[in-house]
Amino acid sequence: MSETKEQKERWSYSRTACFANCKYEYYLKYILKDDEMYLPEGNYYSEVGSFMHDILAKIFDKELTLDNALMYFVENFDDNVLYKTRYSTMEKTFEICTDYFAEVDFDWLDNYEVVGVEKELHFTLGDYDFICYIDLLLKDKRDGKYVIIDHKSVEYPYIKGTKKPKKRCIHNLTTYTNQMYLYAHAVKQNYGDFPKEMTWNHFKDEGKLATIDFEKSIYDEIMDWYIKTIHEAENEKEFLPTYNWFYCNVLCNYRNSCEYQLENRG
Ligand code: SF4
Repeated sequence: MSETKEQKERWSYSRTACFANCKYEYYLKYILKDDEMYLPEGNYYSEVGSFMHDILAKIFDKELTLDNALMYFVENFDDNVLYKTRYSTMEKTFEICTDYFAEVDFDWLDNYEVVGVEKELHFTLGDYDFICYIDLLLKDKRDGKYVIIDHKSVEYPYIKGTKKPKKRCIHNLTTYTNQMYLYAHAVKQNYGDFPKEMTWNHFKDEGKLATIDFEKSIYDEIMDWYIKTIHEAENEKEFLPTYNWFYCNVLCNYRNSCEYQLENRG
């Protein structure tokens, strides 16, 4: 089961991360693509995340004022979030998101020019074509440097008052750093400069902002990781599953059709 030429036309952060996370999911999603046997499904968490992203995009595109965002969220929630999960989780999530829109302010944006919202960028890395969508690309008016913002539903990753990651956040932080540096590479190719910093907007964690500075040595390391991972994907023969209880039971798009998961579930 190796990848054919037609199937390797375009890479992305999510495609590479999918291979690194579970090779069998990668096989179902990017190679087999058999929607009759393995119909991809969404989930509650990803629907809430997409809805929040859509609202934030409307705000930064000036289609929606921040004052009206809370009402928009409440009025349109049921049309945008169809999946269900445990009642207490849904109740808590709704409260967290409404609190976010009630309390957040974007006054700090006055110092920035909005370059793009959900900005689609095409670029290459080595011999590979890539695509990405940057949630919010800004230019600092004070020094003319780019800043990337990515909205995340996961918790703020650092221990309060430090730049030390919480133990349980290390995996996400590594993955999302890979994502940010790929976007930095895209910005460099499309606009001529690397961003000076990249910021995660943790909208479900009181809108805390976590910023990392761009560092060339980390960039080089991560670009090597992408190339190495793509080579591995191209040469992969077995596409074995990686089992993680929460991911396999709640998040994976194939959780109700993957035979490994069905066997584990019993
Ligand atoms: S359910 Fe688990 S093992 Fe199956 S494809 Fe998804 S992540 Fe992989």
